[in-house]
Amino acid sequence: MTIALVVHGGAGSWRPGSDADAIAGTTAAVAAGRKILEAGGSALDAACAAAVILEDNPIFNAGTGAVLNYDGEVEFDACVMVANAAQVGAVSALKRVKNPILVARQVMEETDHVMLTGEGALRFARVMGHADHDPITPARLEDWRSKRETLDIGVGRDAKGSMKIRAFLRKHPEYAGGTIGAVALDANGVLCAATSTAGVTLKLPGRVGDTPLPGAGTFADAFAASSATGTGEYVIRSLSCRAISQGVADGKSLDASVAAVLAQMTRDFDADVGFIGIDRHGNVAAQHSTAHMPHAWFSGQSDIVARMSTPK
Ligand code: ASP
Repeated sequence: MTIALVVHGGAGSWRPGSDADAIAGTTAAVAAGRKILEAGGSALDAACAAAVILEDNPIFNAGTGAVLNYDGEVEFDACVMVANAAQVGAVSALKRVKNPILVARQVMEETDHVMLTGEGALRFARVMGHADHDPITPARLEDWRSKRETLDIGVGRDAKGSMKIRAFLRKHPEYAGGTIGAVALDANGVLCAATSTAGVTLKLPGRVGDTPLPGAGTFADAFAASSATGTGEYVIRSLSCRAISQGVADGKSLDASVAAVLAQMTRDFDADVGFIGIDRHGNVAAQHSTAHMPHAWFSGQSDIVARMSTPK
């Protein structure tokens, strides 16, 4: 059986000069997950290990160093899904933990539920032993302080009918952080997808994005597993990751299925999104409509490949 792992560090426009850090960060995450898979470990363990490394790296918009909401707090969304028996766990609007992806995994493994949110998610995290952790870095706080006044968020749409947050992020790429995602295929043929984020900068408190919603930002079934990044409101409306698996089930290659979903979202919303995925044969896909989506992957015996964007 082929083993494979792919990770992303978020779709968007990365600050000039940040390429090397993003490449090093995604490569390190794949290397850690690969070690687990090569030792016979599960796709779940590999995807979570890769996700934790990305969450702990402050350049990515997940875990430590994640972006702040309108009130200046960090609210995390995360989801992990294993194709076997559609096991899935998620958290949303979760504050003050170090690794939201591990809390999502515990929701899957320790409860009857699929998602815990807000105060309930925080209480569960503490019961599971996750200590209080302030994820706010000085750089993110400074961004938030200096730019908050200039953002008109969530109260309307611009002339093209797209969200103001999107126009703002295009104009100010220094805000771009990027959700993180990891998708793995293990030696038993099991697929797993994990995604973790603090959502979009200056989101309204309580906003839940696509990341924790199975079928939207994260999905795994017997055909394929995928993780999304970009403006979550479009991903939710398109149930994108579920659609990618459906395309593969209908006979498309993984690449063709991702391309079809991306094309449809461009037609429907001119959406700024990106996806990574693996099919049950170990084929890997990474596509995005944004300027960048740092990602890294390996499949079978291949070297680890890491890029800021997919070649056109
Ligand atoms: N998809 C994430 C969200 O909307 C954001 C991102 O990927 O940058 O919450």
